[in-house]
Amino acid sequence: MKVFKFGGASVKDADGIKNVFDVLQKVGHDDVLLVISAMGKTTNALEVVIKSYFDKGADLQASVQEVKKYHNQILMDLFEEEDHDVFAAVNKLFADLEQFLKQNKSPNYNFVYDQIVSFGEIISTTIVSHYFNYRGLKNQWIDVRELIKTDNNYRDAGVNWDVTQKNISKGVKKKNLNITQGFLGSDENGFTTTLGREGSDYTAAIFAYCLNAESVTIWKDVPGVLNADPRYFENAILLNQISYREAIELAFYGATVIHPKTLQPLQRKEIPLYVKSFINPLLPGTSVSKGADLEPQSSCYIVKKGQLLISLSSLDFSFIMEENISEIFALLHKYKMKVSLIQNSAISFSVCVDDKFGNFSELKSILAKKFKVTYNENVSLYTIRHFTEKSANAVAQGKEVLVRQVSRETMQIVTKETEA
Ligand code: ADP
Ligand code: ASP
Ligand code: MG
Repeated sequence: MKVFKFGGASVKDADGIKNVFDVLQKVGHDDVLLVISAMGKTTNALEVVIKSYFDKGADLQASVQEVKKYHNQILMDLFEEEDHDVFAAVNKLFADLEQFLKQNKSPNYNFVYDQIVSFGEIISTTIVSHYFNYRGLKNQWIDVRELIKTDNNYRDAGVNWDVTQKNISKGVKKKNLNITQGFLGSDENGFTTTLGREGSDYTAAIFAYCLNAESVTIWKDVPGVLNADPRYFENAILLNQISYREAIELAFYGATVIHPKTLQPLQRKEIPLYVKSFINPLLPGTSVSKGADLEPQSSCYIVKKGQLLISLSSLDFSFIMEENISEIFALLHKYKMKVSLIQNSAISFSVCVDDKFGNFSELKSILAKKFKVTYNENVSLYTIRHFTEKSANAVAQGKEVLVRQVSRETMQIVTKETEA
């Protein structure tokens, strides 16, 4: 079996969905499992809904309407008959969402987040599945929440592999075209969970692992994995081949083209991952597999914006020792800070983190009881793998560098954000 993942960008409008259909005609669709994300920026739009819900703002209705209007337009562009079943199916999903907003009693933000944000994927797969049937491409719609079981760490749930493996072996019919949702799972009580933002790539890897798939392909708006994000770096070049290890490093440092959790399950079973263009589906793209580390050999550039640089020093000039460091890490873990760089000296300790869940102000007040805390918000972390003097200078040029760290293969700098 092959697993294909189509992300939000590939299904952002009716033409995108028609293009996914065309891609399948070109590359084949038997014995395929499709993992599909929410359409376009729907997840962000649903985050606005969640925020308005908790702020008890007057704009809650308007934020739901936004999401509805967007999907309705896509439906009208895809289906000629206004009484096609899909309209009722999608209306029902919005009615379920509205009912949840009305009836929910839970004050748990992360729980509520997952129950709401998941509508993006459920709606998108419902539309795509109906559209393929409409075009004569029979397919099986699968509710991924019945297969992928997780703990109840809402918004960043951990997979229960044993149960998931059994469910997937039973629940996915080979020989069919199967369509399911990325990003979602469910906990022991059947409540929806999510695997972390951008987690649909990971879903594809979970299925591939459990199905012993032949390969995973993630279809993108870029020709494959480039040596830099083309949004921020000019002249990025296509990487033809990357080893699992190199890909894990690139994803870990923040190359957003592949979700970092995706690679480990694939590496364990040596399942190749292809990253290809949904615009030119017959081009080879990038292969992540056993083999050459990086072909062509080149420096790779990664930037993570909107990071937080926290520096702690002892209040009384005493050393920051192992026990302080382990306490600091326990707190970083508790407040769900994703650490991307660490540096320490005798009396100070700096970390660059991604405060994905907006927990810093709480953490800061705890840390301030023991340490002098200074910080810079909104810094950028640049990582260059396989750096050369020239590439390092080019990145640092014209920027105010707050931290620099160099190892044999990797150079990282934290800079103050200069652009608006
Ligand atoms: P999806 O629709 O699957 O969610 P994303 O938008 O998350 O797709 O990922 C594709 C984007 O990733 C590209 O448009 C590109 O801007 C960005 N990107 C970041 N790093 C890289 C890289 N090294 N190579 C290619 N694209 C990259
Ligand atoms: N829709 C989710 C997100 O935008 C998951 C994904 O697209 O991978 O984060
Ligand atoms: Mg994405």
